[in-house]
Amino acid sequence: MSVSTVATAPSICAPLPVLGRDVTVPLVTGGEVTYAALDYAASAPALQRVWDDVAAYAPYYGSVHRGAGYLSQLSTDLFENARRTVAEFLGCRDDDQVVFTRSTTDSLNLLAAALPAGCQVFVFETEHHASLLPWRDARVTYLDAPRSPRQAVETLKRALADREPHGPALVCVTGASNVTGELWPVRELAAAAHAHGARIVLDAAQLAPHHPVSARDLDVDWVAFSGHKLYAPFGSGVLAGRADWLREADPYLAGGGASRKVTRRTDGGVDVEWHESAARHEAGSPNVIGAYAVASACKALTEAGFDTLVAREQYLVGKVRDGLADVPQVRFLSLFGDDAPRVGVLSFVVEGWNSSHFAAALSAEYGIGVRDGLFCAHPLVRTLLGNDPQTQGECGSPEAAPGEKSLNAIRVSFGAGT
Ligand code: PLP
Repeated sequence: MSVSTVATAPSICAPLPVLGRDVTVPLVTGGEVTYAALDYAASAPALQRVWDDVAAYAPYYGSVHRGAGYLSQLSTDLFENARRTVAEFLGCRDDDQVVFTRSTTDSLNLLAAALPAGCQVFVFETEHHASLLPWRDARVTYLDAPRSPRQAVETLKRALADREPHGPALVCVTGASNVTGELWPVRELAAAAHAHGARIVLDAAQLAPHHPVSARDLDVDWVAFSGHKLYAPFGSGVLAGRADWLREADPYLAGGGASRKVTRRTDGGVDVEWHESAARHEAGSPNVIGAYAVASACKALTEAGFDTLVAREQYLVGKVRDGLADVPQVRFLSLFGDDAPRVGVLSFVVEGWNSSHFAAALSAEYGIGVRDGLFCAHPLVRTLLGNDPQTQGECGSPEAAPGEKSLNAIRVSFGAGT
C-alpha cells in the first residue's frame, strides 16, 4: 500500500487522549495557537489513561520488596504484575526475564555489561547511539549502512560467516529507525544470527510504540524499549529476554535488592550471593510508578489496537509527504527508498536552510514542535546527507550559519496522540 493511497483512506480513528494535547503556545507574530507536538520519536506525551492509572495508585504508595505492611505488599504486587504485563506485551517466552531499567540506553548498557567473555558484537553503523556505543569494550564489528533490507541481511550473513566460529556473539539491531522511521527486517536478521550461532537484541525504542513486538514470533533473544516513547512518563525502561547471560553476569549495579545473602568472611571481607531472577540487575529501590506506568501503557496500546494506530500514523505521514511534494527544496531521507515501510517518523532537509533555524521558525511562527540535528545517529545521518562535511554541523548546532547548503536534518514524528 503506497503512502498516498493511505492518505486518502476514508475512516481514520481519533487520536488517543494524551497530556498536553490542548496546550496553547505564544507565536512571535502575536496571538497563540494550540501546540502541535510532532516529536513523538524523542518522547511521546503520556497517555491520559496512564496518568489516571498512576494517580489512582498514588495514595497507596509503598516500598517494593521491602516491607511487611499492606501498602508495601500492594506496591510489590503492582510491580510484579507490571513485569507480567510487559512480558505478555512483548511476547516473551516462559523462561525469559523482564528487567526494569531506566530506558533503552540503560537496557542496552546492562546487556553490554552482561556479555560473556570473548563475545563478538555485530552492529550496523546506522544505529542510534544507544545501540551503537555500549559495546565498545567488546570486540565489535561495525557494519556499513545497507541500502535495502535484503542487503542488510546479506551484509550480516557475510560478517557472521567470517567470524571465528566458536564463542558467543551478539547482533544488535533496531526495529525502526529513529531517523527515517524505516522498518528493519528483524525476523530475517534474527534467523541469520541464529544460523551462525549468534544471539540478537532488538532495540525496539521506536518500534514498540507503533507495532506489536513479539520476542517469540520475531525470534529475537532480547528486546529493549523506553517508557517515555511508549506513552508512559520518563525514567522507566525494559530489557526482556533470555535469562542465562543475565543470570551468569555480575549485577549491573551492586546493592540491596540484587543480593540474596551477604556475609562477613573470617578474613574481614564480604561474600555475596546474588539473586538469579531479574532482581539481580535491579539493585536499589525500584521505580515502581515507572514500571506500573509502562504496564498501563502496554495495556492501553493493546486495547486501542495497533492496526488502528498504524493506519492513523500512515495517514499523517502521507499528509506530510503530499503537502511537501511540491516544494522542490525538500528532500526526504531514506536508506531503503521513499516507499519503504516505516513507522510515523520522517526526516528531510530543506535545501538552503539550516535545520536549526527552520525548526525554530516552525516553533515560533506556527507552534509546531519538531526535532532537528543529527538525532543521536550521527553516522547514519552523515551517510544520508552524502557525507558532505558542509551539510553537517554538530548535533543541534544553532551557531551554524544559514547559507546555500542545508545543514543537518529535520524530523517530524507522529504517535497515538497526533
Ligand atoms: N534507540 C532508538 C532507536 C531511539 O530512537 C532512542 C531514542 O531516541 C534510543 C534507543 C534511546 O532511548 P532512551 O533515550 O530512552 O534511552
